[in-house]
Amino acid sequence: MAFEIESLFTIIGEAVVYFAIFLFIIAVLGSLLIGYSFKTERFIFPNFMLFSIILLETLVKALFRFVGMDDSMVDDVGIALKNKISMRKFRDTPLDKRLIFFPQCLRASACPSKLSPEGMQCINCGSCEIGQAKKSAEELGYKVFIVPGSSFIRRLVRKHKPAAILGVGCMTEVKAGLEMCEKLNLFGVGLVLEKAGCVSTVLDWDKFYEFIEFDGHA
Ligand code: SF4
Repeated sequence: MAFEIESLFTIIGEAVVYFAIFLFIIAVLGSLLIGYSFKTERFIFPNFMLFSIILLETLVKALFRFVGMDDSMVDDVGIALKNKISMRKFRDTPLDKRLIFFPQCLRASACPSKLSPEGMQCINCGSCEIGQAKKSAEELGYKVFIVPGSSFIRRLVRKHKPAAILGVGCMTEVKAGLEMCEKLNLFGVGLVLEKAGCVSTVLDWDKFYEFIEFDGHA
């Protein structure tokens, strides 16, 4: 009996070791593909990459740090992959069922907008690009909000019941926003700020207009 228990533990021990080696190989392969995709902007085996990011994020990031590379590449590629997967569904969604969220830090530092239950009320004063971008997106049919934080987003999502969301923010916010969309079964796409921070952040506006398919003639 003691011998049987001992051999059972040996089998379990070996299985754990093999499983750990298997996960490690997945993480190494995922890391190589992520590094390659980041450099070339070409996605090879996107589902495998996403699988390795979702399941083994900590290990994949540790491998990046181990070889002296910036582990934010993992988030960058993860967001690009999720955007790629959701973009078609996002664009198939009727425009009046799509919401756009801008972070308040993207406004000009002297922004005259006032806070309301629907976020900052932009008056399109011309001091930053948000005014024009909001106008263009609303002409297309989007609902657009400038929000001070994620609690506003959750409340506005509950109120307006969108089917798709475009969120603009820093890497951490966009990552959290896409995870929220997955939980709520919404088609989420995210645009990461070129320069993050608390004030006067920077967005690649050409990318934004490309995302919302605004060709300047709405
Ligand atoms: S355009 Fe809108 S968001 Fe930008 S500074 Fe003026 S009121 Fe604020």
